[in-house]
Parts: sequence; C-alpha cells; structure tokens
Amino acid sequence: MISPRMLLAVALSVTLAAGCGASGDLSEAPAKEPKKERQRATATASASGCDEVGDDFAGDVRLARCVTEQFWTKRFAAAGGTYQPVKRFIAYGPENGPICGGEQALPENAFYCPDGHYIAYDAGWLRSMYDQMGDGAVYVVIPHEFGHAVQAQLESDFEYNVEQELQADCYGGATLGGMINAGLIQAEEGDDEELFANLEAAGDPTDAWWEPNAHGTPEQRQEAFAKGFDEGVGSC
Ligand SMILES: [Zn+2]
Repeated sequence: MISPRMLLAVALSVTLAAGCGASGDLSEAPAKEPKKERQRATATASASGCDEVGDDFAGDVRLARCVTEQFWTKRFAAAGGTYQPVKRFIAYGPENGPICGGEQALPENAFYCPDGHYIAYDAGWLRSMYDQMGDGAVYVVIPHEFGHAVQAQLESDFEYNVEQELQADCYGGATLGGMINAGLIQAEEGDDEELFANLEAAGDPTDAWWEPNAHGTPEQRQEAFAKGFDEGVGSC
C-alpha cells in the first residue's frame, strides 16, 4: 500500500488562501512540486462573485464553501451537467441545530441534509478544531460535506456507509488539489501535515467498516483524501 504521505507530495494550503475569483482549469491533476513561497494572495472580485479571504475562521469557512462550490460548478459544467449549489449553509450551536429528516442536528458535527439540500455545522465545534489544529480543519470538513451534496446529485449508490464517507474524503482532496492546481488557493508548507492530522482525528477508532456510521480508519481517510488530491475526481 502506498503511504498517503507519499502520495500527497504537494503541501496543501489554504491558510494563505487566495480569493477564488480567478478562472482556472480544474480538470488537470495537481502539480507535483510543492509551492513553498509564502504569499498572501489578494482576493479578487470576479464574475464568480467569490472574493473571500481565508485569514480567519469566518473567512476560511466562507472561502472553503466558495472554492468548493466553484470547483463543482466547473466540474459539472465540463461534463455537461449543472451543479446545484446548496440551498442553505447553516452555522449552529450545540442546542439549536436544524432538523434534518425529523432529527435534531447533533452537537459537534457537520452534515449534509438531502432533505432541503443544505449543509450545517456546529460552529463552536469547528472553531475549536480550527483553533487547535489549524485551518486544515475547515478545509477537511467543508469540502467533505459538499462531497455528500455532490453524491446526492449524482444519485450515487453505496452498499456501505464507509464507502460513501471515503468517497466524500476523496472528493474533498480532489477539490483542494484542483483549486491549488488552478492557482485559486495557495499551498503553504506544513499544511499537508495539518490536513492529515485532522483526518486522523476524524477517523474511526476501529476498522468496523460494516457499521452504519463508519467513516473509515485514520489511514483509510488519509488515503482517500490523498488519492483525490493527487488523481482528481475521476479516481474517487
Ligand atoms: Zn461524511
């Protein structure tokens, strides 16, 4: 088995994330050479209307959403389809989560709800991960949830939950790889470690892949993310 760390040759970064205004070809595999320069790219307003700057928690959350939806909009268009943006993007507190399918949202979670086509996240929980583990937390969680929004549009079918979750991780990696490759977000040294640490923390403690809530072991999640990052959406 190839180590995800070997696969993820490019230092990811989103800390210095640029505006996602520039247009770029998102269909190519990301460049293999790490970008080492530290530069704070200036967000540029554009026809896309996406001019967020990821230099704090709120900005990173907005930017992660923006770049991810821009990525999928282009991917769908390239395939002759139309990506449907989520209808709502909801930050909630531990007590006031939205209802999805008759169930109140759980604290310390983020999820995609097909009933209403929205994404919601416990803002305090995501913020604490951001503070503890860096902004990679946001760029793991948000693109992953958009991965589920994409699966819903593709009407993907999975035998086991873990397959769906690992594909969402793969989509998340593909999103970041595609955006970096297109020059829409910048890589910073050490961000690959940060992203892997977040995926590790989010992994299941055991390899009980048959469980209905299984998300995959830390290694499986890292591997899925790295595969998408290196090889693109088609590999997911
Ligand atoms: Zn998931």
